[in-house]
Amino acid sequence: MSTIRDLSQDAEAESHQSFDVVIVGAGFAGLYMLYRLRELGLRVQVFEAGGNVGGTWFWNRYPGARCDVESMEYSYSFSEELQQEWNWTERYATQPEILSYINHVADRFDLRRHIKFNTRVQSAFFDETKSLWSIQADGTSMKASFCVMATGCLSAAKAPEIEGHDRFDGETYHTGLWPDTEFNFTGKKVGVIGTGSSGVQLIPEVAQQSKELYVFQRTPTFSLPAGNRPLNSAEVSDIKRSYTDLRKRARISPTGVASYPVPTQSALEASPDEREIAYDVRWRIGGTAYTRTYNDIMLNAQANQTAADFARQKIKARVRDPEVAEALTPKDVMIGTKRLCLDTEYFETYNKPHVKLIDIKNTPITEITSKGIRTSQTEYILDVLIFATGFDAMTGSILKVDIRTSSGLSLAKKWKEGPKTYLGLMTAGFPNLFMITGPGSPSVLSNMVVSIEQHVEWISDCMASMRLNGRLQIQATSSAEDDWVHHVNELSNGTLFPLGNSWYLGANVPGKPRVFMPYVGGVGRYREICTDVASNDYKGFEFKNT
Ligand code: FAD
Ligand code: NAP
Repeated sequence: MSTIRDLSQDAEAESHQSFDVVIVGAGFAGLYMLYRLRELGLRVQVFEAGGNVGGTWFWNRYPGARCDVESMEYSYSFSEELQQEWNWTERYATQPEILSYINHVADRFDLRRHIKFNTRVQSAFFDETKSLWSIQADGTSMKASFCVMATGCLSAAKAPEIEGHDRFDGETYHTGLWPDTEFNFTGKKVGVIGTGSSGVQLIPEVAQQSKELYVFQRTPTFSLPAGNRPLNSAEVSDIKRSYTDLRKRARISPTGVASYPVPTQSALEASPDEREIAYDVRWRIGGTAYTRTYNDIMLNAQANQTAADFARQKIKARVRDPEVAEALTPKDVMIGTKRLCLDTEYFETYNKPHVKLIDIKNTPITEITSKGIRTSQTEYILDVLIFATGFDAMTGSILKVDIRTSSGLSLAKKWKEGPKTYLGLMTAGFPNLFMITGPGSPSVLSNMVVSIEQHVEWISDCMASMRLNGRLQIQATSSAEDDWVHHVNELSNGTLFPLGNSWYLGANVPGKPRVFMPYVGGVGRYREICTDVASNDYKGFEFKNT
């Protein structure tokens, strides 16, 4: 099959290794992109900073790590054989199980031979006259017609901005960079900073081993019992039988999860008793669909308060010491504006005598010392320090790569005031550079595997169409991008999301521009827009043939 561009005609390209497409990242996104492009007959090279496939599930090996979208839905749908042969064992799969699954996918489809592991891409430069990207990756130089950033939304781990954070002499871990080595916290004094989704999963597990556990909490979090349990073979078979329909429904749903409800009633139309019952039902079912009990929980502050108050009562019921319960209860925060967490025995963990909550809003950390953590009140002497402090989300890993063009554009400069994209797929001025689940797409507000598959399929169809029509270059037009950015902002400003102090907004990274990054309009609606754009000869994109 012919390639997109005959690189053998280009002396400069010939002197480097040359490919049709370079993909950066070998998580769910990079692997499926590789699979699709190879099916098109393209020559593809993947660079992966990690030592193996898996992305999120390669790096986040902390105890307790698991998905919070149900396993049967948090998986690829592109291969009927794959989805029939793989057997998930728990409602929410553990990190090791998800990692085994991704490894199985890599082996089953013979993907590894196209991936260079332990290789981080540092820069990408587009020569507009030659229509070629030059990629520099740990001493390797490569040319490609296209570059696809499959770098992940939650892959740039963030250390806390605390004086002395690298000074501690004991064992140090970051949940997002957890080493693949044995660890044992038995008999040890452990400190954890951070109580987001990672902290909430990790803390109960560490509490089981450690002699003393100190949790340093800056902001209390809303978390629901996940309701995790083993899956039985009958329900797995049932789902497998109806997979075609389930996947179809997920693709057109608001969140990419077929089993989530699409509420039609306002919380404010229901009576307090009706609400109590409805919230209790969703609470018992478990899962982040709690904020979908009514249709206005993320739209109306009063409606949100009804859901938040119910969740607050539940925290108080789970924690025995009223003072600790009070400190663990989020105040002045709307539920769901920060990512809702799912847990197993998180709040109950604080009932254990060796687990202490340190409220660092009241007694701030002043420094990390060689022996532990010093707050305004005392020094906590520790053997182990764990950072569960999150990520420079959505733009972090893209902007760590120095991306420039021959017309003098730099992506870091262009995105100084916040990311600008058309559909979260491309950014104007950077031809032949695609992003998977980029800012401006539903990405982190959805079941990400569904969003990843949609982007990968759109991008590969686009490349196939370009080849068919002899088109060499594609880029978003500035006007389409401006309209899209306006649309994304307008939609999010109609919700409560921008009011949370969340990583969705970049609020967790000092100096990061505050822009609500994901598209809130829903997976189904977004898919329709993308399909419509493609079927109207990629309206909003422009092509060059030479
Ligand atoms: P990633 O899995 O992040 O992979 C990106 C890869 O790119 C990484 O391996 C990274 O090393 C590599 N990379 C980045 N920059 C470079 C570079 N410059 N050079 C070379 N390689 C590079 N989503 C859900 O929908 N449901 C869940 O239940 C869920 N649970 C999660 C749990 C945790 C602990 C975390 C952190 C995230 C979770 N997510 C969840 C989001 C998760 O990130 C996505 O679901 C999905 O795994 C993302 O896949 P990806 O391939 O896009 O990115
Ligand atoms: P996070 O949600 O950003 O939480 C980071 C935590 O660290 C917060 O409690 C934050 O406090 C605290 N923190 C950060 N810097 C600090 C500092 N300098 N001093 C004190 N505390 C500090 O990160 P995360 O928990 O890693 O989760 C990130 C995302 O990954 C999630 O939202 C989710 O999308 C995904 N994830 C999913 C799962 C799952 O269940 N499937 C599990 C883990 C992660 P503040 O709130 O005060 O900033």
